[in-house]
Amino acid sequence: MSRWLTAILLFIWGACFGSFYLVLGKRGPKKEKVVNDRSRCDKCGHNLAWYDLIPIISYITLLGKCRYCKKNISILNPIIEIVMGAFFAFAYLHYSISYEFWIFIIISSIMMIIFISDFSAFTILDSPLIVGSILIIILDLIYKGLKPTLLYVVSGITMFCIMLLIKKIGDLIFKKDSLGGGDIKFAFVIGLTVGFRLSLIVLILSAFLALPYSYAYFFLKKNNEVPFGPFLASSLFIVFLFIDKFNTLLDAITLSL
Ligand SMILES: [Zn+2]
Repeated sequence: MSRWLTAILLFIWGACFGSFYLVLGKRGPKKEKVVNDRSRCDKCGHNLAWYDLIPIISYITLLGKCRYCKKNISILNPIIEIVMGAFFAFAYLHYSISYEFWIFIIISSIMMIIFISDFSAFTILDSPLIVGSILIIILDLIYKGLKPTLLYVVSGITMFCIMLLIKKIGDLIFKKDSLGGGDIKFAFVIGLTVGFRLSLIVLILSAFLALPYSYAYFFLKKNNEVPFGPFLASSLFIVFLFIDKFNTLLDAITLSL
């Protein structure tokens, strides 16, 4: 099969996953059934037929409106489907089928689900973190062997403990919940994916990314409840994407010390 045909098939496959992540990210925090349940319109609750649920295509043919109540379907739906399709296709074109390909698919999927659930409901779901961690451990065992896998797991546990410590200190200083439980669990995935050294870069980068957003949000809405998960997730994504560059940077810093 030609390279581009594979990429197109992966785009379609990714768009279908994006469609599923939308349902998971929106229904999961409300503890609604995600599988074995009919898809419904967000606005009128009407059951949707299969032809209303084709990723991207349905949005275009319905001109962005529900077939039944004619209310607008969120533009985020096709955008998320397109982005996930693009991630899947990019992963193949950039990494071919390799260890990095699978890890990229897993972390971009977790990132997308965190974006949907944390921005809409301030929740990071356990299920994608658990499924993602198991898949990463299996991939590590297959591609890297037992010893490196154990090192990554230890990195994950260390990151979990560091975030827990940051939360305890933050709670004392701000006298309220400073970090969500989901952020702490996600720190395990960060350590597991990029190891301890690079995880520290992920933490620093996420603070830099979150800062301007928190300021803007505070001034516009007079509210400082900002979800931190999306910033952690995008930082992990960025560090993984440019992992060689970040490793070189870390080596340079270590040498100069
Ligand atoms: Zn409707």
